[in-house]
Amino acid sequence: MTTLQDCRAMDAADPLAPLRALFELPPGTVYLDGNSLGVLPAATPARIARAVREEWGQGLIRSWNEAGWFDLPQRIGDMIAPLVGAGPGELVATDSTSINLFKVLSAALSIAQAAAPARRVILSERSNFPTDLYIAQGLGRLQGAQLRLVDEPGAIAAALGPEVGVLMLTHVNYRTGEMHDMATLSRAAHEAGVLAVWDLAHSAGAVPVDLHAAGADFAVGCGYKYLNGGPGAPAFAWVHPRHAGAFEQPLSGWWGHAAPFEFTPDWRPAPGIARYLCGTQPVLSLRALECGVETVLAAQPLGGMAALRAKSLALTDLFIALVEDGCAGHGLSLVTPRAHARRGSQVCLTRSEGAYAIVQALIARGVIGDFRAGDAQLPDILRFGFTPLYLRFEDVWQAAQQLREVLEGGEWRRPEFNRRHAVT
Ligand SMILES: *Cc1c(COP(=O)(O)O)cnc(C)c1O
Repeated sequence: MTTLQDCRAMDAADPLAPLRALFELPPGTVYLDGNSLGVLPAATPARIARAVREEWGQGLIRSWNEAGWFDLPQRIGDMIAPLVGAGPGELVATDSTSINLFKVLSAALSIAQAAAPARRVILSERSNFPTDLYIAQGLGRLQGAQLRLVDEPGAIAAALGPEVGVLMLTHVNYRTGEMHDMATLSRAAHEAGVLAVWDLAHSAGAVPVDLHAAGADFAVGCGYKYLNGGPGAPAFAWVHPRHAGAFEQPLSGWWGHAAPFEFTPDWRPAPGIARYLCGTQPVLSLRALECGVETVLAAQPLGGMAALRAKSLALTDLFIALVEDGCAGHGLSLVTPRAHARRGSQVCLTRSEGAYAIVQALIARGVIGDFRAGDAQLPDILRFGFTPLYLRFEDVWQAAQQLREVLEGGEWRRPEFNRRHAVT
């Protein structure tokens, strides 16, 4: 088995190792939750302080023009674009993932129904992130559509019937870490006359994505996970250029107007993706997101997303191997697919008892993962996200070692680890 010394040698040989210095990691912590909230980039506090003291404090209203506040959503969108295979001018950083999903779903449904009014179904998976399903339900009530769910990835293609207008999928499942084949499913959707909407919340900055090559129609993604934009960071929205100029924005606010400062009474959409802005943008949060995206772009000269992906797979392979060896006999089983092509950047384990408490005991030891409750279909999950920008092979070894100690000593049975917090 791989030893701690082996791991230190792997870190010494890792070409991405210098990127860790771009972050402020609390000492003594192994952070395996970058898929929920990315780590603070070292550049962010000063960038925010400058935005507050100089841009706001001194520049005041002039900063909309002079500090470049006004087009931050487009400029940060252009920074994110190459990470997901989008072109310049096709993507904006704005609003939350939930809100962006509402916008793109509405547009996709309108396009589908203009071509064939009977296409009233949004098809998705029961295991999708709940907010995605909730948004589709709410939109359905407004736009006369209906959400239909399949129970397993293998059932998606067969469910693309003539009543389906939009296929709405999350590329990497938040709970299991299972990754879809975006190109194959988008093609199957198009062959059935269906538009493909992708949620990249657990993909952007984590796994290579090529929206153009996959033929996707619309996409949204998250700013505070692998893009390290900070709590509640703006998310992003993307539309394929074949729909540019012809897609609807249901939240027709003045920032998406073709000429917001003409103050005319009628809404006229800005050309292209800019119409997906709604109201005045959160400049301080955008400044933090800018720093976060810069940390991912810093990997470009070192091999970019391909290099990050190779390291992510090496980290997750190592964690799986160490856990299966060191924790054998303790009732853990692997939920995340072993096949690289079907694995995102996380490893999920399950155990019939104590999943929540084991995660709490690990957190008390400085190994931060999280817990996702099961339901009738899925078991309770111990979830570990691996961000190759700042994680070392040594961290993986430490995490597996701590997990082994928590299980061997039965420490997780202590009452303090079994009390539920509001945010898990
Ligand atoms: C994290 C995540 C979200 C978060 O949505 P918010 O609007 O930022 O709360 C949405 N969808 C998926 C698939 C996610 O993983």
